[in-house]
Amino acid sequence: MATKKVVKRKGQGGYHKLKCMNHDPENSKYGEYAPSLAGCEEVVEVPVETTKVLCSKCTSRSVNQIKL
Ligand SMILES: [Zn+2]
Repeated sequence: MATKKVVKRKGQGGYHKLKCMNHDPENSKYGEYAPSLAGCEEVVEVPVETTKVLCSKCTSRSVNQIKL
């Protein structure tokens, strides 16, 4: 039986840089809001636990319903 240890990190080191999930619009839930057909180039710094992120540009495009 494997036990997963969850460690809560504090301060620096708990973050990594992730590409906006719209870098691959075809596999993104929000792909239709990508700034271009080639995908989004934004990189966002997020807590390491986060595996998917939508950058602020794409977020505002989705909020404003701006589609390709
Ligand atoms: Zn984006």
